Amino acid sequence: MRVLVAGGAGYIGSHVVADLKEHGFGVVVLDNLSTGHQWAVGRVPIHGVRTNDYPMVKALFRNYKFDAVVDLASYSQVGESASDPMKYYQNNVEGARTLMDAALSSGVDTYIYSSSAAVYGNQMSAREVDRLDPINPYGRTKRQVEEMLEDYHAAYGLKYIALRYFNAAGAWPEKSLGEDHQPETHLIPKIVDAMLGRSDGVKVFGTNYKTLDGTCIRDYVHVRDIAAAHRMALQYLQDGGKSGPINLGSGKGYSVLEVIKAAKFVVDRDFPVEYVDRRPGDPDVLVANIEKAKETLGWRPERNLSHMIWDAYQWHRDHPDGYGDKRRPGR
Ligand code: UDP
Repeated sequence: MRVLVAGGAGYIGSHVVADLKEHGFGVVVLDNLSTGHQWAVGRVPIHGVRTNDYPMVKALFRNYKFDAVVDLASYSQVGESASDPMKYYQNNVEGARTLMDAALSSGVDTYIYSSSAAVYGNQMSAREVDRLDPINPYGRTKRQVEEMLEDYHAAYGLKYIALRYFNAAGAWPEKSLGEDHQPETHLIPKIVDAMLGRSDGVKVFGTNYKTLDGTCIRDYVHVRDIAAAHRMALQYLQDGGKSGPINLGSGKGYSVLEVIKAAKFVVDRDFPVEYVDRRPGDPDVLVANIEKAKETLGWRPERNLSHMIWDAYQWHRDHPDGYGDKRRPGR
């Protein structure tokens, strides 16, 4: 099966590419490298096309015979989506629509979409059938694309799975793949930076949330488990599986303080922790119900929070400049 992976040079995309390659899939990457890294795709062909450039995207579909599209080409910073929503609607919504149109008009009817837990808003044990209530523009772009997929499925027979990721974390150190965001905002890489002495410490955003210890609760899931789910979703659709959304989380929630405690234990390194004000747009609790992924895809997370922390730690330790470190061998 030959798959076009849009956003394949990004954090999650590069793990998807590596996983598909490892399982014998043909892979071509579309990524304009606005946030992704060329090094992260190894020797896979990469085309620096914008997803919302229809003629260029269409030309790509003419040049290759794809069987499916995996679309991870989204901007994903919640705060930025609030200050610059145009960027998000143009890229995340227009880009997905262009890709879907180009795929359908080229006879490609299988589409795996990277959606997000952000479509839910604030929720404990979120199920796919629950009402969607995103609380920021990023989450709304994800909901809009899911609605488009549903309509395209009903009208044109587009087969799709929208994978709603909860908090992706970890790395694939054996393949030199990890998380390199500029700027980095996510909790686990921030903790790792602090452990490695590359920052003054970790700031805990808010201590008065409606949770047991007052800090936000999230559902962390290993990026390699997320990557595997894309492959399983492709297989599932090929075997006649039903289109729709599927949550990808661990089903367990950890507070910010619990993650910090786990990290200190797993890596056995201490670091300063500072308590500061809330960050705007953070829900108190966001945890997945993952029964649907288990029942439909036969997927379950194989790696726990300790694995995520340890893999992230190894990758950051060995790549002090992230993908800027050119000593890293290509795959
Ligand atoms: N967080 C924190 N300090 C940081 C980064 C994140 O306290 O330096 C908190 C954040 O407020 C949220 C949780 O950690 O409650 C996870 O945040 P992250 O940015 O990793 O993922 P998000 O849930 O926003 O997708």
